[in-house]
Amino acid sequence: MSDSTVRIGLVLPDVMGTYGDGGNALVLRQRLRMRGHDAEVIEIGLSDPVPESLDIYTLGGAEDAAQRLATRHLQRYPGLQQAAGRGAPVLAICAAIQVLGHWYETSSGERVDGVGLLDVTTAPQETRSIGEIVTQPVAYGLTQTLTGFENHRGGTTLGPDATGLGRVSRGVGNGVGDGLEGAVQGSVIGTYLHGPVLARNPELADRLLARALGVDSLPPLDLPEVELLRRERLRA
Ligand code: GLN
Repeated sequence: MSDSTVRIGLVLPDVMGTYGDGGNALVLRQRLRMRGHDAEVIEIGLSDPVPESLDIYTLGGAEDAAQRLATRHLQRYPGLQQAAGRGAPVLAICAAIQVLGHWYETSSGERVDGVGLLDVTTAPQETRSIGEIVTQPVAYGLTQTLTGFENHRGGTTLGPDATGLGRVSRGVGNGVGDGLEGAVQGSVIGTYLHGPVLARNPELADRLLARALGVDSLPPLDLPEVELLRRERLRA
């Protein structure tokens, strides 16, 4: 690995890997390599401290019990919080939004203190939200419709320091009546969108990568298959 290698941290895939969100790290790596960058995925498991020196981080969704283990690990090894503090981009999917918030309540009513990177709190909704979701972006300089698949019981309330990622046009999203999905605060993006979200939404992948590389934008990639899949999903 050379000094210029872009290092993508896949945080706790051993416990936050239930929904295939590890694919986000592969999309980031592939989009970098297609543009001629060296890029590697560094998997950080429950037996590893969390390094603060990586270029970009991604965390996936999980069930309540796994999510509790992840929370404890991130509190014990605060490398992610330090990296976010210096502006490294962090993408947190589903359970990970909840873990990065102030606290979350599990489906069985237990309240767990989170990591405090996002000004959000999460409590269980009456019913689980499952299905395709479509949102119109309202943050992070995004312009293209976001699509994904949601599967969560928790409903997330944003505090004043966080803004939504998108306005829901189909599906539930944060589920607390404000019509918003996700949470954005500084360099941290949380979203309920599985898919993996970056495979479905290349603009979001490239915004994260631009931030990691410290540039305004990246040269476009011509991938007609990705565009075709997007159109199909938006029609479905
Ligand atoms: N356990 C959390 C919930 O149900 C997160 C689920 C997920 O990550 N898909 O709200």
